[in-house]
Amino acid sequence: MAGLFIPQSDKFESIRHRMVKTQIVARGVNNAEVIEAMKKVPRHLFIPKEYEDEAYNDYPLPIGHGQTISQPYIVAYMTEVLKPGSKMKALEIGTGSGYQAAILAEIVNKVYTIEIVPELAKEADERLKKLGYKNVICKYVDGYQGWPEFAPFDIIIVTAAAEKIPQPLIDQLAENGRLVIPVGAPSAVQELQLITKKKEKIETKNLTFVRFVPFKRL
Ligand code: SAH
Repeated sequence: MAGLFIPQSDKFESIRHRMVKTQIVARGVNNAEVIEAMKKVPRHLFIPKEYEDEAYNDYPLPIGHGQTISQPYIVAYMTEVLKPGSKMKALEIGTGSGYQAAILAEIVNKVYTIEIVPELAKEADERLKKLGYKNVICKYVDGYQGWPEFAPFDIIIVTAAAEKIPQPLIDQLAENGRLVIPVGAPSAVQELQLITKKKEKIETKNLTFVRFVPFKRL
């Protein structure tokens, strides 16, 4: 019997699908598009080669420059909470490896992502281009000021922990927009907060506790 042909580039496909089932669906993520995106995006291509075999494990991994790619479940959970839709425009602060941007890019219309470490920004930009993501735009700068030229955003995701939510990000949130951000001291456990804007009013909801690398300033 002939074996199944698994392209070299996707030798992790079955491991990835198992990861989605056991770590993501099992914990309650049920947005079909988020699940599809997590099944599709080759996470092992977003991390240093030396950690490739751990790419689908249930924890964050180092990506260099003291930064990390989040645990798969956290990426899925934060994406689901944002209620992404196909016509939406998203802003991410903290591109890191570009993995979260790729997951969003599978679902929304356009992703604008900002990274403060120039080397990471460049690597992520090249990686996303190589993988064919034409709807992601990267830039290297301190993300505190957001990206006013393209505001307002339906979705804003911050993947570094801030002591306080940067006001420009709140200002750049569209009506009915959703912003998710870890809030708290860098060395501690932070609260993952969801901010929604309705009729110019801001609502804040605490979702869960998380541990993220610090939001830095240039
Ligand atoms: N979303 C990333 C995870 C990144 S970790 C991924 O999917 O891989 C958080 C990232 O936020 C780090 O790369 C860090 O350098 C970046 N960061 C921290 N403060 C920032 C700021 N003020 N503006 C932009 N990026 C910032």
